[in-house]
Amino acid sequence: MPTPSTDAPELLATPAELRRRSTTWRAAGLSVGMVPTMGALHAGHRALIDRAVAENDRVVVTIFVNPAQFGPGEDFARYPRTMDADLAVLASAGVDAAFAPTVETMYPAGIVTRLDVAGPLGNRLEGASRPGHFNGVALIVTKLLVAGLPDRAYFGQKDAQQCAVVRHLARDLDTGVEIVVCPTVRDVDGLAISSRNVYLSPEERARASAIPSSLAMAMARFDAGERDAAALATAVRSFLENERLDVDYVAVVEAEDFGEVETAVPTNQIVLAARIGNTRLIDVVRLGVDTAPVGRGV
Ligand code: AMP
Repeated sequence: MPTPSTDAPELLATPAELRRRSTTWRAAGLSVGMVPTMGALHAGHRALIDRAVAENDRVVVTIFVNPAQFGPGEDFARYPRTMDADLAVLASAGVDAAFAPTVETMYPAGIVTRLDVAGPLGNRLEGASRPGHFNGVALIVTKLLVAGLPDRAYFGQKDAQQCAVVRHLARDLDTGVEIVVCPTVRDVDGLAISSRNVYLSPEERARASAIPSSLAMAMARFDAGERDAAALATAVRSFLENERLDVDYVAVVEAEDFGEVETAVPTNQIVLAARIGNTRLIDVVRLGVDTAPVGRGV
């Protein structure tokens, strides 16, 4: 495999340019990895990028804040945009190309053709709290896979329901793309790193560590033999409410379709969303698979 360079990545602005570049690579027998992001790159993104660079001959990182996956009243307008710093990260990681289109380039005629993520996967939990969110995710991911023709595409376990949606669409639409899911990268106190953490005041940031603590507590109960999914979810909810977090949902689900379970078994996931002030954060742990996130008081 060629050694990664530290040159600036080639900038690609349109789906046609992306397809041309990828087609050239593939014609030369080179494998192509893709890492879709919304920019504001942090250590979580970097872990996906490093893995893609290690596993593919060429890597393209996409940077696009996709309006189709934000609901009215969500943070599309204020979402952090840090393109210059992002390009420096890509250069230091040895990424070959950055695809950073404008909204007009991606949706020149608005959105006429839609994708619908049906069933519990599309409509429960994140899907219920953010109606239409996964349809928007499915649309942009499909567009990126169609234009970029990667062999592999990399996603973070932190967005567990998104990972399940993307795995389904890659199969359902016969993309032939291998979906690679990478572990969640966490801060020292266990909080999952997120572009949205910059919204938190220092006081809110301190309280946010209740999220990994609550999940670590539930994992400890599971390891001690607790199998009642409702009891696990209630314990997490109480823990968060005691720390004055506004809980959106806590659920124990099976990983494939996000159906709720009554009896927890290894590989089930505890997923949650909670608000601190104006910031909404999500997290997840896989029972019997992940090591507990480090957390306060655990
Ligand atoms: P985003 O830019 O937030 O859309 O994220 C782009 C990709 O990075 C998604 O697949 C996320 O799941 C992944 N990601 C975000 N934060 C983390 C993290 N802390 N650890 C691992 N992957 C992450």
